[in-house]
Amino acid sequence: MSEQIYNPTTKYHHTKFQKQKQTAPALQCDMKPIPDCGEKSYQGHQRLAGRKMLVTGGDSGIGRAAAIAYAKEGADVAINYLSFEQKDAEDVAKVIESVGRKAVLIPGDLSDESFCKKLVKQAHDKLGGLDNLTLVAGKQTAVEDIAKLTTEQIVKTFEINVFSLFWVVKAALNYLKPGSTIITTSSVQAFQPSGNLLDYASTKSAIIAFSRGLAKQLASKGIRVNCVAPGPVWTPLQICGGQPSEAIPEFGKQTPLQRAGQPVELCGVYVHLASEESSYTTAETYGVTGGYHTN
Ligand code: NAD
Ligand code: MG
Repeated sequence: MSEQIYNPTTKYHHTKFQKQKQTAPALQCDMKPIPDCGEKSYQGHQRLAGRKMLVTGGDSGIGRAAAIAYAKEGADVAINYLSFEQKDAEDVAKVIESVGRKAVLIPGDLSDESFCKKLVKQAHDKLGGLDNLTLVAGKQTAVEDIAKLTTEQIVKTFEINVFSLFWVVKAALNYLKPGSTIITTSSVQAFQPSGNLLDYASTKSAIIAFSRGLAKQLASKGIRVNCVAPGPVWTPLQICGGQPSEAIPEFGKQTPLQRAGQPVELCGVYVHLASEESSYTTAETYGVTGGYHTN
């Protein structure tokens, strides 16, 4: 039987999105349409059998798609999220458990260094090991005018998007063994920053430098570090201030593929970077952008 072939411009939602707004952090279960995170559409092939993974931002969007794909590839998965997002997180746990894998739910705020340490220890202890960090959590709040960009927002965005990576990785190095992998999440915004995302785009550039440098530091320990740089993807981040409300209907339309991506279209890259298939790949950035350049 041959695999069905799709036109990428029409494979997923490609017409206008309905205008919608939630306060941050938004819930995926209240979005219209609900993003496709591979709950039904992702097919695993045991490429991560027996691995123990920690995914931040694993309740929704891109992190949820990675967590679900990892479980379908045979891994046990701990996910971190904010306590407000408990419902989305419980839905992810159900999917992970439905394919016979262990799900560990660890809510908490990554902008708190002491929580980052606790998160890693709990993930390790409850999973019975730790082979991978998939660092996907992020904050994005569009502000049109730098004069209106508050110091509070700048600091919070850097704490969540950048500082937490240092804190989580530092704690995890107590556990990660040769063959382990770390995957960070940047953005096309690191390469083509929008005028209204100055703080966010700066953090996404910092994540690339962090990932490349860390890859060099950890190579001799046998730990690989790579980064995924998504383009516009239909997730809760965008409808709770990541984009101005009026930009939502046309979100993703300006890409060469003329539509927003769905989270499930990213998870194959996360699986690849976590698996043995990518054993000669480190310090790399993988763009999944609908056609935007990442260099
Ligand atoms: P999302 O809203 O589904 O995921 C972001 C997650 O970050 C939330 O679910 C939340 O659990 C977590 N988070 C936010 N603040 C936190 C905090 N203080 N402590 C703990 N967790 C916190 O949206 P997404 O688009 O899937 O975002 C995932 C990543 O992808 C982000 O790093 C984002 O920058 C990146 N990204 C997204 C797009 C896009 O278009 N959606 C494009 C490029 C990059
Ligand atoms: Mg969420």
